Amino acid sequence: MGKIIAIANQKGGVGKTTTAVNVAASMAATKRKVLLIDLDPQGNATMGSGVDKYNVENTCYELLIEEKPVEEVIIKETSGKYHLIAGNSDITAAEIKLMEVFARELRLRNALAPVKNYYDYIFIDCPPSLNQLTVNAMAAADSVLVPMQCEYYALEGLTALMDTIKKLASVVNPKLKIEGVLRTMYDPRNRLANDVSEQLKRHFGEQVYRTVIPRNVRLAEAPSFGSPAMYYDKSSTGAKAYLALAGEILRRGKVNKIAK
Ligand code: ADP
Ligand code: MG
Repeated sequence: MGKIIAIANQKGGVGKTTTAVNVAASMAATKRKVLLIDLDPQGNATMGSGVDKYNVENTCYELLIEEKPVEEVIIKETSGKYHLIAGNSDITAAEIKLMEVFARELRLRNALAPVKNYYDYIFIDCPPSLNQLTVNAMAAADSVLVPMQCEYYALEGLTALMDTIKKLASVVNPKLKIEGVLRTMYDPRNRLANDVSEQLKRHFGEQVYRTVIPRNVRLAEAPSFGSPAMYYDKSSTGAKAYLALAGEILRRGKVNKIAK
């Protein structure tokens, strides 16, 4: 059975898109069938997948507002060997138009239903706000992966975010789980980062992934080549960290994996 994981944090610049692209590519490299959904009007996950956001026929707009069948909006050729539903500035309009439609929170969930079990993993790159698109992602997802930077106030922000996710889930998706908290852009030489990391483990225990994503320039460079880090520099610490994360997600998921 396919699993849908929303990658969310209402803060911008914490590594959501970097995580979405690189974990999707890493998971696809393990021969899993993967779909990545770019739900951010910035379209960074689309560009980072080697797809020109200015030149796509279909995006999440066609899926959510025009209700085109999901099979028609999926792009099968990406640099990361996963499938993609693109995002660009058109989905800003989708966010607004969603306000007018019936059962608006469930648009994405319903739209994905026909392909959910075709894929092993579907990742959703959420926008950096708690708007109607994020609500749709939360309603469609089985779980939420929260990337965060270990900096001052991070813990407060995370606690607030977890509360918001719980409240939202109680309304649109009571079965929603926390997939895990991911430490991103980690610099082990930074004492504050180490302190925050320790606090994080104390507060959130097993929910914190063992895998830590280091600050690594290759991760920042790869998108300008339209590529996940593993196809730009596979020996980089960033590429290796995301492969390790994919492994950890797989191991965690094994417990309730149903044989196909
Ligand atoms: P978000 O999607 O949460 O806004 P991004 O993934 O776009 O965050 O990351 C913000 C910026 O930080 C981008 O320029 C990205 O390339 C860079 N970045 C993300 N993760 C790392 C990392 N581990 N090391 C170095 N740079 C990173
Ligand atoms: Mg982003």
